[in-house]
Amino acid sequence: MSSLSISIASLLTFLPLSLALGFFLGQLFKSYRNRSKRMTLRLMSEVFDHTHDGVTITDATGTIVSVNRTFTQVTGYSEKEVLGENPRILNSGYHDQDFYKEYWQALINKGIWQGEIWNRRKDGEVYLEWLTCKAVKDNKGKLTHFVAIFSDITEHRRQEARLAQATENDRLTGLPNTANLLRKLTKNLPSLQRQWCVLLVDINNFKLVNSSYGFSVGDQLLNNIAKRLQKCCSQGLVARHSADVFILAVPVINSSEAEQLAEISSLRKCLSKPFSILGRLMEFNISIGVTIWDDASLTTSSVLQEAELALHAAKSKGAGQTRFFTEDLRSEKNPLAYLQGLREALSKNELSLFYQPLITAATGKTHALEVLLRWIHPTLGTIPPDDFIPLAERHGLMEPLGHWILQQALKQFAKWQQEGIAPPRIAVNVSPVEFQSEHFVGNVLKALANYQVDPSCLELELTEGVFVEQDPTTLEKLNELSKSGISLAIDDFGTGYSSLAYLKHLPVNQLKIDRAFVKGLPENEADRAIIESTLALCRGLKMSVVAEGVESIEQANYLRQEGCDYLQGYFYGRPADKEQTSLRLKKQKQPLV
Ligand code: C2E
Ligand code: CA
Ligand code: CA
Repeated sequence: MSSLSISIASLLTFLPLSLALGFFLGQLFKSYRNRSKRMTLRLMSEVFDHTHDGVTITDATGTIVSVNRTFTQVTGYSEKEVLGENPRILNSGYHDQDFYKEYWQALINKGIWQGEIWNRRKDGEVYLEWLTCKAVKDNKGKLTHFVAIFSDITEHRRQEARLAQATENDRLTGLPNTANLLRKLTKNLPSLQRQWCVLLVDINNFKLVNSSYGFSVGDQLLNNIAKRLQKCCSQGLVARHSADVFILAVPVINSSEAEQLAEISSLRKCLSKPFSILGRLMEFNISIGVTIWDDASLTTSSVLQEAELALHAAKSKGAGQTRFFTEDLRSEKNPLAYLQGLREALSKNELSLFYQPLITAATGKTHALEVLLRWIHPTLGTIPPDDFIPLAERHGLMEPLGHWILQQALKQFAKWQQEGIAPPRIAVNVSPVEFQSEHFVGNVLKALANYQVDPSCLELELTEGVFVEQDPTTLEKLNELSKSGISLAIDDFGTGYSSLAYLKHLPVNQLKIDRAFVKGLPENEADRAIIESTLALCRGLKMSVVAEGVESIEQANYLRQEGCDYLQGYFYGRPADKEQTSLRLKKQKQPLV
């Protein structure tokens, strides 16, 4: 500890930089003031030796004067081996001179450097550290030491990479998925000043291949189609959109229809040659929906929607057709026909809320109820939210609708609380459009106060798109909600755009794994890998995890064993109206089945 006789006060003011040491600091400060210096030094030594972060202290010339136990565990060097050495012995060779120049400039000018750095262990293995290095000065302001605190984040980064790989690519064909392709386009669009022709290519009657020849033939065919598409679209991007639909993005110089038609006819030609699968020659027709992305202000979801509307129109013309998107597709014959009805649905009392339980995996008890909107149409029957929420979003109805949903949900929850049957939480879905409103946070807090529901009982489910929004007010809003005690959950995780590396900086409490990754459990190896990586990462980030779409006992058992916190799905209960839910809640002290 003698080497630590550098200004303890300076060191103490530095230590809060390491979160892991936060708790001990309070104790140390108290002890520094109140107890003898010897006691403080002893405590200091305990912290130094037992923190999970590595610590390196050098003198002003950069010579190592002290390291702690974690340093030895991470680097493989004993204290004896490094005392008197320069931290350069850990140099990985991965960073150039500019990197170290910036590092030293920050230390000298600002007194601190923080960031990721690759270093090398004694056994030669390179590892990634999150490092905070601080220059320490004495009472007269003279530089005396540098203190570096680091944690080994290599495994964390590997898990993230595995997860990103698994969630960004289609497992069957290895092609990127749609989100991945659209992200690449968003990056390219403004910088290249390009226009993109976005095509959805549907393999007509593909289901017949599966039902006639079996899934393995179907899979091989999809694989071959994917390869051929990549070959004939070498200038563009290809992704798998859904089971038998591929999405292509082809750069075009100008949006002349002749140019696009030439693209399309070469695409058709390329796919028209028969495929040979297990000795069988197979041919099929394709339908194509096309839209042009030439406006950087258009969102990826609206471009996709245009291509979908075009494909829908192409298919309804019969097999083998191509259709370009035109505004009139948003007319009577498509889902937009509902729009007028939707406007009136609220006043006509046709909208209602259903509730689906989220079960605590360890106890089988209901932890929360997720609120799911339904439109009970007088002639069309129950219309699922996926059909009409996008409409409401596009036509300015989502904000009032979302407000109504929240009010109704909290009113019902308060009632269940008064009856003594409410679970701990109510989870409400929030559309990104609703979230964008400047009144959103105020409205939520007002509604909670209005129905006297404690903010800690409310969980807001936001899709990944909200979190990656670059708008600076997004973070402010998230922080405001979080500080008020409301929980925030990322919905449909794995289907969108986010990386956990980014999410970890946000005040998110919970992550909901999309049911697409639960479907194949426990047999599907790729799904297992995704679930296990996500769980491991969330544990590290202190986020709880909900698995959606649990439909079987095998899935439930597997997820429970893996340490998933909450389970939701038909196995535990389908969404039900408030009367049925009241009955369930009354009945249960047991899991809902
Ligand atoms: P979501 O938030 O992912 O909701 C879960 C969806 O999965 C629900 O569909 C639910 O019925 C369904 N589901 C639950 N368990 C299972 C299962 O075991 N298997 C299968 N196959 N499906 C299961 P739903 O109610 O049709 O809602 C669809 C989407 O519409 C929701 O997806 C959510 O994004 C949106 N939505 C629903 N209600 C609201 C709302 O009040 N506000 C907003 N903004 N969006 C809502
Ligand atoms: Ca949800
Ligand atoms: Ca979901």
